[in-house]
Amino acid sequence: MAKVSVERDVCIGCGACWGTCPEVFEQNADDGLSQIAASLQVDGELGEGQIEENLEGCARQAADGCPVSAIIVE
Ligand code: SF4
Repeated sequence: MAKVSVERDVCIGCGACWGTCPEVFEQNADDGLSQIAASLQVDGELGEGQIEENLEGCARQAADGCPVSAIIVE
């Protein structure tokens, strides 16, 4: 398991993360910013999630591709 987070106050809604890794990231319908996919969220926090090992690669790729470095995988 890895922890993944999106700093939603930094995100600019460019769409790169959910384009790269739609299993983990999605666009929030209300503000258009990135959030962790609902099924992966921890305690209903839009920007916090737990992911299985098989999703770590794409989550890290999305983190590398984020233009404002809003995604952290640890
Ligand atoms: S790649 Fe970064 S800036 Fe773009 S939507 Fe995702 S979190 Fe936001």
